[in-house]
Amino acid sequence: MANKKGAIIAVSAPSGTGKTTILKKILKDFPELIFSVSATTRKKRENEKEGVDYFFITEEEFKKKIADNEFVEWEKFYDYYYGTYKSFIEDNINNGKSVIAEIDVKGALSLKKIYPEAVLIFIYPPSFDELEKRLKKRNTENDADFKKRIERAQMELRLKEKFDYFVENKVLENAVSETKSLIKKIIYGGK
Ligand code: 5GP
Repeated sequence: MANKKGAIIAVSAPSGTGKTTILKKILKDFPELIFSVSATTRKKRENEKEGVDYFFITEEEFKKKIADNEFVEWEKFYDYYYGTYKSFIEDNINNGKSVIAEIDVKGALSLKKIYPEAVLIFIYPPSFDELEKRLKKRNTENDADFKKRIERAQMELRLKEKFDYFVENKVLENAVSETKSLIKKIIYGGK
């Protein structure tokens, strides 16, 4: 009998909503869930690790990978490229392993076009003001990048309705437990 395919889950949220924090907690509790490590051309932040958070590559390398059809989806924003590796997703799901991708809203919608079985989770902030506050506090971006992230967040919040599930990140622990229940349901079925 053929192996059951793994699930594809995409988690999206406007920049600064706290999805990375939520995802890190989830991955600890679901060691069977594989995090899809994307490629990006943006600079590595201090707390990030090559091959764990992203594969940090040059724009030239990225463009070569686009031409070679290595990405299942890719987006350019904030002047940087981000892409999901097709082989990474397929190798895992074909081996029965479920994959979780932390990608932007447009990327998640592209993923769903290619894999209609993919399940999309949208994490949203309690308010737009709160999001601005969190982004300022994080302080990882320069002023120009900050402005671009805010503009993009407005667009992303408008596309929210196209997602399958929604989780509000008002209180972190609640958002984590809600997301965990969803993931359990997606991977194992039932409630
Ligand atoms: P950051 O620079 O803060 O790590 O990520 C910026 C945005 O890029 C986030 O919304 C993140 O989810 C998204 N992102 C990360 N990897 C990918 C990817 O492979 N594809 C797409 N479309 N977006 C990605």
